Amino acid sequence: MVTTRTPLMAGNWKMNFDHLQAIAFVQKLAWTLKDAKHDYADVEVAVFPPFTDLRSVQTLVEADKLPIAYGGQDLSEHDAGAYTGEISGQFLAALGSRYVIVGHSERRQYHGEDDALLGRKVAAAVRNGVVPVLCVGETAEDLEAHGAAAVPVQQLRDALAAAGEVPELVVAYEPVWAIGSGQAATPEQAQTVCRALRDELRTVVGDEFADATRILYGGSVKAENIAGFMREPDVDGALVGGASLKIDDFASIVRFRS
Ligand code: PGA
Repeated sequence: MVTTRTPLMAGNWKMNFDHLQAIAFVQKLAWTLKDAKHDYADVEVAVFPPFTDLRSVQTLVEADKLPIAYGGQDLSEHDAGAYTGEISGQFLAALGSRYVIVGHSERRQYHGEDDALLGRKVAAAVRNGVVPVLCVGETAEDLEAHGAAAVPVQQLRDALAAAGEVPELVVAYEPVWAIGSGQAATPEQAQTVCRALRDELRTVVGDEFADATRILYGGSVKAENIAGFMREPDVDGALVGGASLKIDDFASIVRFRS
């Protein structure tokens, strides 16, 4: 069965841009892309601003009906209660967030998030109607010890086992050694792991889900290397950090075909 998956180009802003900078950026991005709409008509664009920017981004996107989705960079496993500093999936949904990033390697590394917790966060997103973008990826040491695919596949397996039923998911394969390093994986490496992740979805959830799920590559994606990744059959888009903070670079990534 041939399934067409709409490519997703997602900008992970990390801890950059306050709400005023976010408004200026999204306005300029929409304006830049509008001129070239035919070049990316079938590409979905999403931005992941800091929590404090989300309300401003929502107001702008809704007022101007911009074709830009947005979401949080993390969420709590809980929906409400005495969890100081946490942000609930309910709140993200109330702000019109279509997506939420779960398990970015910076959360795993600096906040000790493990696959069992990430599974519960995936469940929290699902419970609130927000699509989780689950990040998996191996460190340089993992790569050396186990090859590229073993650790990301295991992370996906463990998170899904803890998550329960997931009607819609985006998976982002982000080798930790490629993030922010300028040293992207090759398209062939990305394809090998994205394929292994899709096979895992096939085994655990089923063919229909595996064929419909978008699997993104992330890690030093730039305007110059995006086309190579997008030529691979199991790479359905990109999760972009540094290059998503520059209008021209991110717009070129969105328009990877031109
Ligand atoms: P990068 O970050 O594009 O700056 O490598 C990617 C990410 O961390 O999502």
